[in-house]
Amino acid sequence: MSKFWSDVVHKLTPYVPGEQPKLDNLVKLNTNENPYGPSPKVIEAIKLATTDALRLYPDPNSDALKAAIANVHGLTAQQVFVGNGSDEVLAQVFQALLKHSRPLLFPDITYSFYPVYCGLYDIEYQAIPLAEDFTINIDDYDVPNGGIIFPNPNAPTGIPLALDEIERLLKINTQSVVVVDEAYVDFGTESAVHLINTYPNLLVIHTLSKARSLAGLRVGYALGAKDLIEALTRVKDSFNSYPIDSLASAGAIAAMQDKAYFKLTCSKVMASRDALVSDLTQLGFTVLPSGANFIFAKHQIKDGLALAALLRERHIIVRHFKLPSRIAPYIRITVGTDEQSKLLINALSELLI
Ligand SMILES: *Cc1c(COP(=O)(O)O)cnc(C)c1O
Repeated sequence: MSKFWSDVVHKLTPYVPGEQPKLDNLVKLNTNENPYGPSPKVIEAIKLATTDALRLYPDPNSDALKAAIANVHGLTAQQVFVGNGSDEVLAQVFQALLKHSRPLLFPDITYSFYPVYCGLYDIEYQAIPLAEDFTINIDDYDVPNGGIIFPNPNAPTGIPLALDEIERLLKINTQSVVVVDEAYVDFGTESAVHLINTYPNLLVIHTLSKARSLAGLRVGYALGAKDLIEALTRVKDSFNSYPIDSLASAGAIAAMQDKAYFKLTCSKVMASRDALVSDLTQLGFTVLPSGANFIFAKHQIKDGLALAALLRERHIIVRHFKLPSRIAPYIRITVGTDEQSKLLINALSELLI
């Protein structure tokens, strides 16, 4: 607490990301990173961009990257906004599109960055409780609001919401922006991207951090009608002209273009997920249905906090959320390689006898 701080700083409750322990030989299953490296073409592209040209500013509009993203999704470059990780894109979205006199709606159990942005930008919000089985009930969102946001699949539950439910929401809710944060959509969940040309208030957020194995590069994007993208661009150009540096741009373009590698690694993660779910079930876990590269599981006897601590002693890091208490029995496990799953299952088998 300092007298030099602006008022807003005193009131902030910053987001706490999953830890990045500085230890070797960890089985790191706590922050939903991809266990496979990025496409070799990404590394090559970044190397090729590492030249004297780094003395120049990058393209402030990231035109080449937007074109590559638009191409993958069958949209125009005017329907794409890019930022330094989707967390930054989300920050611009909250400020540009979700700050209104009516409250923003999101699930009570969801990505915990959402309430943090509301604090930063002084946005009123209402947390809508998930159903008993942790699913999102669209009818609960049929109330006056200044915007709606949720991840699909949801985090940290991993539960996907069917596309026809999202379309039903868009039909009910036409007067405010609906943001679908599809950080994990490529691991078997249906994307809402192809509804963009039908619904002018739909904004879809993607990241290269998960399915494209580039959490370290910091690239994310928003897809939506031109008018929504323009609002984001106005905020961005009032904040930082160059959120995407030259190396990130080169790497991200290569990642978007290498569709074969992307498909291959996503299928491997999904196959490992299915195997992991079945092994955990055998060990007495209840696993929520996952459309993501992580699973949310609770054991019939051992509580989540205790399990996370015991695994940690064996150098296996998973994530536990104390709050809300409804999810305290669970642990969130990132799907790693089959080798990492084996280490996890072996450790759990020992712990649970
Ligand atoms: C990981 C994640 C993000 C942020 O991804 P970055 O692009 O790395 O900032 C956004 N939303 C959800 C739900 C996530 O899990």
